[in-house]
Amino acid sequence: MLAENLKQIEENIAKSCERAKRRREEVTLIAVSKTKPVSMLNEIYNCGIRDFGENKVQEICEKREQLPKDIRWHMIGHLQRNKVKHIIRDVSLIHSVDTYRLAEEINIQAKKIKRIVPVLIEVNIAEETSKFGIAAGEALQLTEEIAKLDNLRVKGLMSIAPYVDNPEDNRQYFQKIKKLSVDIARENIDNVSMGILSMGMTGDYTVAIEEGATIVRVGTGIFGARN
Ligand SMILES: *Cc1c(COP(=O)(O)O)cnc(C)c1O
Repeated sequence: MLAENLKQIEENIAKSCERAKRRREEVTLIAVSKTKPVSMLNEIYNCGIRDFGENKVQEICEKREQLPKDIRWHMIGHLQRNKVKHIIRDVSLIHSVDTYRLAEEINIQAKKIKRIVPVLIEVNIAEETSKFGIAAGEALQLTEEIAKLDNLRVKGLMSIAPYVDNPEDNRQYFQKIKKLSVDIARENIDNVSMGILSMGMTGDYTVAIEEGATIVRVGTGIFGARN
């Protein structure tokens, strides 16, 4: 069942890469498994997926205990500062850094365990009031400030596009994020790279790949609707 879903998504990703003249290896598929039981994650793991995305600290901690250790866990949801310490050791990439205060806490906790933690800056590209993320116009300044912290590394940008029926409606936002990442990369800030663009979900990942996504985060398309 889930294997069939995954196969369909893989086909779509391959087609998008072809249209954009990109190599399949340039795009990482994250299976967004929030609210889904460990049995389902195991099923997808057995299909070869090693990147899983969760939006709650507690869910990462609980699931990690029960699943193989070679899984890369991605924190994709809003992160409260008091919970950073619970995931600092085991998270592969934090996608949702949108304030200096949060970055500071990640830095403190990472320093304690002598780790350098990779993070993305979350940008609220459509300026939706319902969403977290820094405004595009403030992303460069935030990146420059965070770059001075020793125990985390900015690796790129993340964005959640609006919910739309027609994925073409989000192409403009993916283009904006891509342009912003090129602009920030051009500043050559020490310790900052813009190699990762985490954008595109079930409804719009094909368009996101065409516009330069290096990570797509797909939940519903793999695991089915959430309650
Ligand atoms: C839930 C979630 C996704 C996956 O959404 P789907 O539409 O189910 O693919 C992707 N990114 C973030 C940040 C999410 O919270």
